[in-house]
Amino acid sequence: MTATPDILVLGLGAMGAATLMHASGRGATVVGIDRFAPPHTHGSTHGESRITRLAIGEGPEYVPLVQRSHQLWRDLEQRREVSLYEACGGLILGCGEATPMHGQAHFFESTVNVAAAHGITHELLDATQIATRWPQFQLTGAEQGYFEPEAGYVRPEACIAAQLAEAKARGAMIHTGERLLSWSEDSRGLLIQTDRGSYRPGQVIVCLGAWLPKFVPPGFVPPGLVSAPALRVTRQVLYWFAADKPESYQANRFPIFIWNWGPKAGQGFYGFPDLGGGVKVATDGHQPCDPDAVPRVVSEAEVTHLYDTHVRSRLRGLGPACVRTATCLYTEAPDARFWIDRVGHNGPIIVSACSGHGFKHSAAIGESVARWALRGELPAVLQPFAYVPER
Ligand SMILES: Cc1cc2nc3c(=O)[nH]c(=O)nc-3n(C[C@H](O)[C@H](O)[C@H](O)COP(=O)(O)OP(=O)(O)OC[C@H]3O[C@@H](n4cnc5c(N)ncnc54)[C@H](O)[C@@H]3O)c2cc1C
Repeated sequence: MTATPDILVLGLGAMGAATLMHASGRGATVVGIDRFAPPHTHGSTHGESRITRLAIGEGPEYVPLVQRSHQLWRDLEQRREVSLYEACGGLILGCGEATPMHGQAHFFESTVNVAAAHGITHELLDATQIATRWPQFQLTGAEQGYFEPEAGYVRPEACIAAQLAEAKARGAMIHTGERLLSWSEDSRGLLIQTDRGSYRPGQVIVCLGAWLPKFVPPGFVPPGLVSAPALRVTRQVLYWFAADKPESYQANRFPIFIWNWGPKAGQGFYGFPDLGGGVKVATDGHQPCDPDAVPRVVSEAEVTHLYDTHVRSRLRGLGPACVRTATCLYTEAPDARFWIDRVGHNGPIIVSACSGHGFKHSAAIGESVARWALRGELPAVLQPFAYVPER
């Protein structure tokens, strides 16, 4: 039998869970499907924590999304009595030279400019001030710091679980262990085939994360578009190192940080306070992969390389013993931007996996995408993320 929900959400990770929750309880029949049982460890949304910050150095157009997301996390925390967002403060360290990040040529300067333009509370610090406040950082003296008190981290697995629970409470149907096989369009509209059946929904929202390129492969031209961005999936590794004095790295004494210590690509890493299982650090990886065949084992050589390159001479009291690792997936558009767009006139709404910096915006993206599907009008906050081929 072919099901005919008003709204069908494909993929229930960061973007899909948020979208499902906001689409639910508004009079429409809403179904969400996922091939696994989110939150899970196969995609892009696991590993304990994600950085959030208000001054988005990637561009001012992202600021309304993260501001709204912070409000939505707080609302959800109250409603479901869970802890989702910790404003432990965030420090961005620059090296005094232009450092590229997420498609932005001078990430530090751009962050400061966005903070000033949006009236975001922050402090600019020199190396002496940084060292006095956080002696955990071992500095050269040339560093410049941007500190934002409202920055911090969000718990991705807890966010997904809370949003799915809330969606269910509002009447959404959630089908886990159901896999999308194909989508097509005929004279009767969209036809979605899964390994359990078929759907003719009013609206389809595609939140497949790293699996999106399998349905929108490079060179594929969705109807109504001139072309689609060639999305690239890469393997990312998260590392947890034990601190000699764990209390000195706890969230009341240590911020999240992004540290671009040199001007070249690869000369930067980011990290989090110790949430009980070590200090998590990572750097952007560039190894392309197939999400169904990504090597999940992290080698000793990888651990040693990460520790020697980034940690050994920069974070005091963290030894080389790695207590935990996890592999995760980035799905990046060529310019590291987001791709949130409708295919054709009334085709699927595509919500891309957002190029390795999407989680902090996911609550607001879900809210706006749900509104778009329910009301038919593209919310202004999403307009900057439509795909423009010549960009
Ligand atoms: C290591 C790492 C660190 C990051 N750090 C940050 C950070 O600090 N701050 C930040 O803001 N962002 C960060 N990001 C980015 C952020 O986590 C992602 O942008 C976001 O989680 C992507 O969510 P998603 O919903 O697109 O993908 P996912 O959460 O992976 O969801 C996709 C879902 O689709 C399902 N699916 C796939 N194929 C099918 C199918 N055929 N049928 C049914 N279901 C299917 C999957 O099972 C999955 O549940 C990081 C990402 C990684 C990997």
